[in-house]
Amino acid sequence: AHESHANGVCYYTEGMNNRVLERLTLERDLRMALSRDEFSLYFQPQFSSVENRIVGAEALLRWQHPQRGLLRPPEFISVAEETGLIVPLGEWIIGAACAEAARWRRDGHGAIAVAVNVSPAEVRRGGIPAVVRAALDRSGLPAHLLELELTETLMIDSSESVLSVMRELKNMGVKVALDDFGTGYSSLSYLRRFPVDTVKIDQSFVHTVVTQAEDASIVRSVIAMAHELGVEVIAEGVETPEQAAFLRRHHCDVLQGYLLGEPMVADAFRHQLDQPVHP
Ligand code: C2E
Ligand code: CA
Ligand code: CA
Ligand code: CA
Repeated sequence: AHESHANGVCYYTEGMNNRVLERLTLERDLRMALSRDEFSLYFQPQFSSVENRIVGAEALLRWQHPQRGLLRPPEFISVAEETGLIVPLGEWIIGAACAEAARWRRDGHGAIAVAVNVSPAEVRRGGIPAVVRAALDRSGLPAHLLELELTETLMIDSSESVLSVMRELKNMGVKVALDDFGTGYSSLSYLRRFPVDTVKIDQSFVHTVVTQAEDASIVRSVIAMAHELGVEVIAEGVETPEQAAFLRRHHCDVLQGYLLGEPMVADAFRHQLDQPVHP
């Protein structure tokens, strides 16, 4: 309609309208996705580097969009957060993750933990401890087999309320992991201030751990320091045998990444649990 204008203003407006429209469409689709059962959880194995077996899985959200195909969280999670849809969605995620982990246990696989990502918006809007309580009760999953992965961005501003949520979770026996560890300015101080059970060394360090001496030093120090504080260490994004060897040599407790297994549908992960030990 604006093709005769050469000053660019109309083009800019059209581009903006497209973006607004796209975002509104996404929001509309997102509102219907839960009731249409379009969400699912993928599970990525976590390996104990000492026992050399699967000790848990991280639940990763996927959205089977009717037109756009399988979407990963970076494509829609911010819209869910801004619209508040993250609250019912988060409730579904925690419920589904606990139900699945309870099934692993019923199937006789022993203590396999499930880790669930919780976004800052979810915690700030409150209600997480009650949601977790309900999911544990409904599924019968023991609290210590549920780990919530929180990011540092959560701890920057709202530290008092976050602290009380964490204490409530701890009192229930639920584990708390600090995700993307090392990417923020104050990772170390958070470790001192918050009751954290686990840190997850961010992929960006893991990817360069055998090629960049500085990153190797950081990873070694984080592992040593976490252990002195009684905190468990998981390395995420492990892609090569060299990375895994380095991490094992420096006593990283748990390894996660494409080398050991990609995120997979629930059936495939259950099948994986049935298999003999991974090399
Ligand atoms: P994250 O928590 O840091 O999750 C790790 C991401 O790295 C996942 O991407 C995973 O598929 C990917 N990954 C795993 N192993 C490797 C590897 O060896 N190499 C590389 N390059 N990548 C690997 P995904 O599933 O797309 O999730 C992206 C982010 O979305 C997550 O980052 C997390 O912040 C968020 N997210 C995922 N599931 C949920 C959820 O259920 N709730 C919320 N609130 N956020 C979620
Ligand atoms: Ca995570
Ligand atoms: Ca992470
Ligand atoms: Ca991340």
